[in-house]
Amino acid sequence: MTSPGEQAACGEILHRHGLKNTPARRQVLRLLREGGVLTADDIGERLRDEGRTPDPSTLYRILDLFTARGLAERHYLPDLRKYGFSLKAAGHRHRLICVRCRRVVEIDRCPLEAFEKELRETTRFAITGHNLEWYGLCPDCQAAEARRAESPPDKSGPDGKAQ
Ligand SMILES: [Zn+2]
Ligand SMILES: [Zn+2]
Repeated sequence: MTSPGEQAACGEILHRHGLKNTPARRQVLRLLREGGVLTADDIGERLRDEGRTPDPSTLYRILDLFTARGLAERHYLPDLRKYGFSLKAAGHRHRLICVRCRRVVEIDRCPLEAFEKELRETTRFAITGHNLEWYGLCPDCQAAEARRAESPPDKSGPDGKAQ
């Protein structure tokens, strides 16, 4: 499930961010490296699927630590009203996040440079950074949505309760 190469890569990344290499940190990092945005609950669930017994408070601590050290990035997920985490890409980036499958598309160019310059001039703020993310449905999730709309599910849900 975890190749020695992947273990070594995770160890190297932790080291580069001045973080001690522990099995729990390597596990969280390995899942983040698979891509997309994951909540602490998602990570806990995936680790349990692998037969591990993650401690939720340890997971939150690791994700906070990764964010503080610039290894991970935190994103607010409006549909869940929760925070998700992704591996932080190098350089200044903006992102599109699919709220359904949590796929992340990186946008290389910054659409805010001119506006930031204008803000600096009008507010005289020494602006040090900005954050911008778009949320929506990716093409695959839009297609799945359209298929669902074409064939509505029967009246009873999987637990037999009327919906
Ligand atoms: Zn999607
Ligand atoms: Zn920007």
